[in-house]
Parts: sequence; C-alpha cells; structure tokens
Amino acid sequence: MQPFAYARAAALPEALAAAAKPGTAFLAGGTELLNWMRLGIAAPARILDITPLPGLDAIETMPNGGLRLGALARLNEVALAPAVAARAPVLAEAILKAASAQLRNLATIGGNLLQRTRCAYFRAAEPLPCNKRLPGSGCAARDGMNDRHAIFGWSDACVATQPSDPAVALAALDAVVVTARPGGTRRIPLTEFHLLPNGDPARETILEPGELITAIEIPAPAPRSTYIKLRERESYEYATVSVALALDLDSARRIARARVALGSVAARPWRLPATERALAGLPPDAPAVRAAVEAGFADARPLAHNAHKITLARNLVLRALRLAAEMAPAETTS
Ligand code: SF4
Repeated sequence: MQPFAYARAAALPEALAAAAKPGTAFLAGGTELLNWMRLGIAAPARILDITPLPGLDAIETMPNGGLRLGALARLNEVALAPAVAARAPVLAEAILKAASAQLRNLATIGGNLLQRTRCAYFRAAEPLPCNKRLPGSGCAARDGMNDRHAIFGWSDACVATQPSDPAVALAALDAVVVTARPGGTRRIPLTEFHLLPNGDPARETILEPGELITAIEIPAPAPRSTYIKLRERESYEYATVSVALALDLDSARRIARARVALGSVAARPWRLPATERALAGLPPDAPAVRAAVEAGFADARPLAHNAHKITLARNLVLRALRLAAEMAPAETTS
C-alpha cells in the first residue's frame, strides 16, 4: 500500500475545496476504500475523512411523506429507523440483506452506492485484462467466467454488474441522489447515477472528481413494497439476482402502479419500464401478469454462462408481485 496523507474534514466547504486536489479520496465507513487500497485498485495520495462533517447523518421525514437520508447515516441506522420501515420497507429489507451486521454498523448509505463491481477479474490479486481496472487492457470476463455478470446494458468493453442491494431498492423508489461540489449542488435520479459501460468502464458513476453525496431523497412513501435477494448462501453473500418492487393497488385491488428494479443484472439497478407499463390495470393474480413481466426481458442479452439469470429474475418479479399484493400496507405515520 502506498503512503498517503490523512486529514479530517470539519466543514463541507473546506472539504469540497480540499477534495478538488487530484488524488484525494473521501473516507466515510471505509469498508470499500480500504479493500481497494489493499488490492491495489485505488492508491489515493490524500484521504479526507468526512465522518466529522455535521448534519450529514440525519434521517428525516419530508412534508410530502417522503424521506431524506443523510449520506453519512450508517446502513443499520437507516434500516432500523421506524420511518424507513414504515415508508420504504423495501429499503429496510434490502439493507438488512446486505453484508454482515458488523459491516452495516460501519458502512454508510452514501458510500454503499459507490461500491464497485464484484467481478473476480477486477478484484484479482494479480492484475488481469480488465478495462475497468486498467483501461485498454481488455475484458477477461467477456469470454471467460461470466456467470455472475450482466444480462442488460453491457458492452464488449465490460460486462460487470453493480452489487449494491440498497441501490436497487432506491431505484424502485425513484430516489434522488443529492450532491455537493465547489460549483453548487446537484440532484441526480438514482436510475441515472451509475453509468453503463458504453464509454470508459473505469468511470462507474456520474459523479465528478471531488463531488460528494450529501443525501438521498425518497420522494413519496411506498408502504407496499418488498425486496427479494437470491444468493448462493443465505447470509453474507452478494446477489445472484435481486428484485425490488413498489406496488400501488387501486380501490378494486388492480395494479395502479408497479415500479420494478432488478439488481446484479447490469452496471446499474435495472428498471423494467415495459413490465411496469404492461402491469398497469391488471389484477395482481391475472394470467396476463406473466406476459407483462416477460415484456421487460425483451432486451435481455445473456452471456455464455448466465442465461439462467433471466429465468431467475423473471420468477423473482412474479414472486415479488404476489408478496406485495398480499401484504398489508405499512403504516406511514411514523
Ligand atoms: Fe473488468 Fe468489467 Fe471485464 Fe470484469 S467485466 S474483467 S470489471 S472490464
């Protein structure tokens, strides 16, 4: 590990000014950054510890019933907050299925969105052809072992997936990422926050150097929602495929609106707009639901070893619809 300078940030303007220096990395929970440094994936010259920044760990309800999550709120603080369990149960479920309890006590909700892919070639102890790690070196996974890789939105330059569980829930909730940078603030829809590998696969988010996530906003409550994570073992494992669903039923118990996001299938949480459109107006148990779900997979492109992900994802969406339709909506007054 190469030597680095360490400083603690006392106030946001100073932190943003300090981060403008090339080679500076923000440190929050540190559960990812330290891994990257250990593996040689990142070698920052300066680390700016932002955990002392005041006011960035608050979990608040908004007047419209939505939520504002400070970026430095720890994952377990978010998952166990009564307002989150009531207004966005899908997010609480996704967080509690992510990582170990120890990691969730340390990792922050903002930092979680910046997790990098679990592609084994990317995280190899010895560098292998990987355009994300060494631009221009190729993609060992494209024709290698790619059973854990993307079925949507990939390019020949990179077929990796984004591994965050909370990001999938936040995509289904139409969350907005709020950032700060020297020129001001930005509000970025979560569904546009992570970049597909069409240009430079090494660039994974829309963030500019030195730009800091300050909060995540969930615009409205989604009391009938659920997260299902399929993984190779039932604890402490990244998803093979996951689904987050927020479901609104009308007074006749037909689907007024369904928001469906898949995880571990692309370089970003993957919404299924064709499925969402086709589901509108259907009873959740109608035979046509199966075709509506199928519609979302028309543009799926499996790799050599991961066609099973399409079947798994399709079945998870059907199961999530059944579960959400049967659940009593959570009380949103917390
Ligand atoms: Fe690297 Fe992406 Fe290919 Fe994995 S899939 S080896 S991260 S370029």
